[in-house]
Amino acid sequence: MAEALRFECQPGCTECCRQKGFVYLTESDVLRIAAFLGMTVKAFERKFVYRTRNRARLRIPRDASCHFLLEGGCSIHAAKPTQCRIFPFWPELLDSKREWRKTARYCPGLDKGPLIQIESARAQAREMREAYPGLY
Ligand code: SF4
Ligand code: SF4
Repeated sequence: MAEALRFECQPGCTECCRQKGFVYLTESDVLRIAAFLGMTVKAFERKFVYRTRNRARLRIPRDASCHFLLEGGCSIHAAKPTQCRIFPFWPELLDSKREWRKTARYCPGLDKGPLIQIESARAQAREMREAYPGLY
């Protein structure tokens, strides 16, 4: 990776929300999103969360990529899951030019906008590693 990179999320775009894959949740994601929706944690979990022994993730609806993706974008934007907030500064993307370039094929915000120092991007990648220790 270079010393700095460019990124600016593009208004109206929702491409990253439409990609295949899981949206993993931290325990604080669960509490925050349930509160944002005005639901009890129990009701939120029942409706939107799938748990395995070590992980929690959003359930995927049958006919869409995410329950919270509406026409205007993410309907829980202010409280969205950590991995959604940190994208595209995920460790696996920052650590690999190839993966970064692959992501640029669907994310029009990569290589646009203001320069972001690599240290600041790496700090976000660290937050991601700490938030989801089972994934890294
Ligand atoms: S794909 Fe990129 S530009 Fe589009 S919403 Fe996601 S982060 Fe923003
Ligand atoms: S929670 Fe919001 S940001 Fe994350 S995938 Fe769903 S719609 Fe996109």
